[in-house]
Amino acid sequence: MSGPNKDYDPVEVSPLHADEVAAMRDEAVAAIEAATSLDDLKSVRLAHAGDRSPLALANREIGALPPQARKDAGQRVGQARGAVNQTLVRRTAQLEAEHEERMLVEEAVDVTLPYDRRPEGARHPLTTLQERIGDVFVAMGWEVAEGPEVEAAWLNFDALNLGPDHPARSMQDTMFLEPQEAGVVLRTHTSPVQARSMLSRDLPIYVICPGRTYRTDELDATHTPVFHQVEGLAVDKGLTMAHLKGTLDHFAAAMFGDGITTRFRPSYFPFTEPSAEVDLRCFACRGLQPDVESCHTCRGEGWIEWGGCGVVNPRVLVASGIDPATYSGFAFGMGVERTLMFRHIVADMRDMVEGDARFALQFGMEL
Ligand SMILES: [Zn+2]
Repeated sequence: MSGPNKDYDPVEVSPLHADEVAAMRDEAVAAIEAATSLDDLKSVRLAHAGDRSPLALANREIGALPPQARKDAGQRVGQARGAVNQTLVRRTAQLEAEHEERMLVEEAVDVTLPYDRRPEGARHPLTTLQERIGDVFVAMGWEVAEGPEVEAAWLNFDALNLGPDHPARSMQDTMFLEPQEAGVVLRTHTSPVQARSMLSRDLPIYVICPGRTYRTDELDATHTPVFHQVEGLAVDKGLTMAHLKGTLDHFAAAMFGDGITTRFRPSYFPFTEPSAEVDLRCFACRGLQPDVESCHTCRGEGWIEWGGCGVVNPRVLVASGIDPATYSGFAFGMGVERTLMFRHIVADMRDMVEGDARFALQFGMEL
């Protein structure tokens, strides 16, 4: 840069020579064109079009020239600065457009892309079946009742007429919590929920109790040490075996389809009297197959075992403080695994506990 030109000698003001001005302009234009981003362009703008840029400094020199020279130089520098500014405006617009386009590409979300995350889990078919069963009874005005899985032996056995020396008590292979004399067990059935309901609820009682139960069985195709039961209990004035039969026929039809009914076979349970085994009309052949070979589900029987039931033993009512002279009740219980096996033709119980998603996926997604 030159100092003030006190001698009015344009020769000494080298930045104002046409070549110099053209070189400054060309350098500025080349730098602007070479900028590849808006950030680049910002520093190029400062260097070539800012207050301290060569062309701005050259512009300051013009005032020092003689009038004629001042006009030429002013035109030259003005045109050069105009060219630089036009290039800046054009390049800015270009880079802004490129930036916008790139953002559109980079930030785009393709909703049709395949989904590569882990799928959301679905609930286990045993869980959804227990809820369906609950729904069937809730629709009839019953309530769903729950109880603890770690249970007092008194509620698991004694309150249900299974005294300390009762043979049924040894029939059930019970898991005791240590120390054994504390009398705490993993419940062997959902029946203690019935005892709890009778002790804590106002009469009449209509409860359905689905839940997890424990016995010391080995895991095989038809046994599992952790399994599920669903039990129902009704206590009201004037309940009879006929109410029980009607309730179970409705339950069977809701689970397996219209026309699937139940039949009772005399049996024995300590907490019901009379007691019965519940058989289900074979849902595969509907009892229409006369021989063993033609129906593998019932082997020609026309019926399959489903659960147990009976009229609540008056001793059980008394143990829960209910007067058997005024009230009567009925109770029933089914295995949830067994019901699922029938309903969905599951051959091996191990499939239900091993946690292989391919098993559960066949039942579809139910959240
Ligand atoms: Zn059959």
